Amino acid sequence: MTSKRLWVSFVLAAVTLSITFSLQPDQQKVLLVSFDGFRWDYLYRVPTPHFHHVMKYGVHVKQVTNIFLTKTYPNHYTLVTGLFAENHGIVANDMFDPILNKSFSLGHMDIYDSEFWEEATPIWITNQRAGHTSGAAMWPGTDVKIHNSFPTHYLPYNESVSFEERVAKIIEWFTSKEPINLGLLYWEEPDDTAHDLGPDSPLMGPVISDVDRKLGYLIQMLKKAKLWDVLNLIITSDHGMTQCSEERIIELDQYLDKDNYVLVDQSPVAAILPKEGKFDEVYEALAHAHPNLTVYRREEIPERWHYRDNSRIQPIIAVADEGWYILRNKSDDFMLGNHGYDNELAEMHPIFLAHGPSFRENFTKEAMNSTDLYPLLCHLLNVTAMPHNGSLRSVQDLLSAAAPRAGPYGPYTQSPPLLQGRVPPGENEQEASYAYFLGVSLGSIIVIVFFIIFIKHLIRSQIPVLPDFQAEISQPLLQA
Ligand SMILES: [Zn+2]
Repeated sequence: MTSKRLWVSFVLAAVTLSITFSLQPDQQKVLLVSFDGFRWDYLYRVPTPHFHHVMKYGVHVKQVTNIFLTKTYPNHYTLVTGLFAENHGIVANDMFDPILNKSFSLGHMDIYDSEFWEEATPIWITNQRAGHTSGAAMWPGTDVKIHNSFPTHYLPYNESVSFEERVAKIIEWFTSKEPINLGLLYWEEPDDTAHDLGPDSPLMGPVISDVDRKLGYLIQMLKKAKLWDVLNLIITSDHGMTQCSEERIIELDQYLDKDNYVLVDQSPVAAILPKEGKFDEVYEALAHAHPNLTVYRREEIPERWHYRDNSRIQPIIAVADEGWYILRNKSDDFMLGNHGYDNELAEMHPIFLAHGPSFRENFTKEAMNSTDLYPLLCHLLNVTAMPHNGSLRSVQDLLSAAAPRAGPYGPYTQSPPLLQGRVPPGENEQEASYAYFLGVSLGSIIVIVFFIIFIKHLIRSQIPVLPDFQAEISQPLLQA
């Protein structure tokens, strides 16, 4: 073999290796956006041209079943972990953990205790462990230290930071010298105003229009940064919203002695911790108290809610019918709009739209579970999923022909879906993708073998030259 041929072989081997790497969809960029409380049918309430633009050139899922209870923190953590509340541990916006003897309260922004979050590992940590970088603008939980990590870039939560400033940060991170491949962006509307006005208020129209304008702004900025065609944009929400009324209030003080229990969470799912020895008394007093209130002992909570197997779920929960409100008494705060009800109710369901190189165009899907987003994200980001309750196969039809295809559990998501039950500690670490290592190993072996052959040939071809060379340099020595 001539050295020219060997050079060609070496170059071919190097190309093989680089193709092996380039076939991995490492370049996939994903931006996950949540507009809090954007109910699925708001899309048709007023003209929403920017949402409809995404639907026309991307995908749209009409009904997304989120998780019980349909509150902000439990559902945002599900979107980034694929787990039901009993598995990820953020079981409500307001919690008490009897083992840690600690409380968690969104109302008081007392949410920064890492231990509440560490029953799961969110996508940004998994993404970073795989060697990628992530950036988060106010997404719930992204400014909390979880398993000793923060997102690579993040903004500490501050609701007064404008949407435009949040977008600017996201764009900056996607276009920096070491660009992120995962961005998470959160906006508080239309949830905030719908709590105050009620979703049925005609004043909600302008609020929805404004969110649509904000999406338009995001699209415009992505186009300006030349990201629009190369980035997978996923727009979703945590829950919907339903109209409440002061005519539909259930006052716990009418039925319960307030010295007998602690009210950990209030409405529409009252989380009740009876004082010692008072369980039966509290349960009996409440069980048949009101026709629009269903009361469960923890072990009786319906299986379909996957809301039982966690010590942060209190011994008694009382669930209000849709549109009903639970208060201790009428001096407690009341809101005209609320969510948190049964996740089977359509009014609790959020939106789901996506656009980008990995998604089909103008494709509508009837239904999905919000737990399915997580394996989809892992697939797009080329990271191995942690155990989860979702299914990549259920949402694979959203992907374009150009997107990487999924195997039994997806080529990059080796862990099987976790159908129910808690994640046992220590089972979280998964093997990296077999396909990836097989490709890299084969490519490396080819290069090493060719390199050894090349070096051997080079040495052999140099041998006859060496005696002359040595003879020349030895001459002066001989003369000396
Ligand atoms: Zn919310």
